[in-house]
Amino acid sequence: IVWTKDQGWHDAEVIPYGPIPMDPASSVLHYGQEIFEGLKAYRRPDGSIVTFRPEANAQRLNDSARRLALPEIPEELFVRAIHELVSIDADWVPTREDQSLYLRPFMIADESFLGVRSAERARFLVIASPAGPYFSGGVKPVSIWLSQDLARAGHGGTGAAKCGGNYAASLLPQQEAAENGCQQVLFTDTQTEDTIDELGGMNLFLVRTDGTLITPALNGNILSGITRRSLIELAKDRGLRVEERAVTVSEWREGVADGTISEAFACGTAAVITPIGSLKSSDFTIDFGDAAPGELTMSLREELTGIQFGLREDTHGWLDVIVPA
Ligand code: PMP
Repeated sequence: IVWTKDQGWHDAEVIPYGPIPMDPASSVLHYGQEIFEGLKAYRRPDGSIVTFRPEANAQRLNDSARRLALPEIPEELFVRAIHELVSIDADWVPTREDQSLYLRPFMIADESFLGVRSAERARFLVIASPAGPYFSGGVKPVSIWLSQDLARAGHGGTGAAKCGGNYAASLLPQQEAAENGCQQVLFTDTQTEDTIDELGGMNLFLVRTDGTLITPALNGNILSGITRRSLIELAKDRGLRVEERAVTVSEWREGVADGTISEAFACGTAAVITPIGSLKSSDFTIDFGDAAPGELTMSLREELTGIQFGLREDTHGWLDVIVPA
């Protein structure tokens, strides 16, 4: 779908996957005026196909659009695009329970000019790709690397938006994590270097031994994860306490040392819920050892994936049926 300042959104079409024409002076190629989303289509045991809270992705895309000076897209247009693509690609939605069809809606500024200003032409596209588990080897605790020098987001920046530039900034620390034997990188607030923001592509939760969940509050630097939001609701349904507030690495270290923090997990559309086995930095290691994966982590994971794959009742009305049984 194309957007121009004069005409708004127009010319929606579904085309076979392949290269798209792009002018070398397109503003996205120079100034990174780009935003994206990620969601999945799941197949339920009765054969029907659903997505999970697509309107939340539409709203977040529009939050990102405002920050990146891109046009907002009407929610129904976003959801309709998902429906059309998934209906056409229905045969590509896997039948296995740990697999899905990953959907990548994105918007790029594609007016051609070299001056620095927001573009007056943009395109919204969605691509689909069958996806297996994010981390290979099933649900295994992952190691996290604490990035101490390299920031992903700063106050007033684009940390709360889902834009390509954030991920560009996270690639080098992610590489550093891999060099240190870790699968993900943890970003902290650049001023204190102690207050936790999030991981490269996931939000973080700590679990206290008394069942309380602690997760960094939305502070303008972190992405408002839809998985994060959903887990907070599921935990509250169980009567658990959820604290959304500033959380520090020190609190994590002390809590593990004195036995009050028993589990940690990462969550996101791609990673679902992934237990954290250890947090490493150049100075220290926090290790859950045989305690990971934790019981609450796995039971929340089971509940969320149960809803998504149609094995549990969708009491919150989160599923959007695209292809009925
Ligand atoms: N933080 C970042 C930086 C991410 O890329 C993602 C994945 N979209 C998340 C958190 C989790 O968000 P969600 O649960 O909506 O996938």
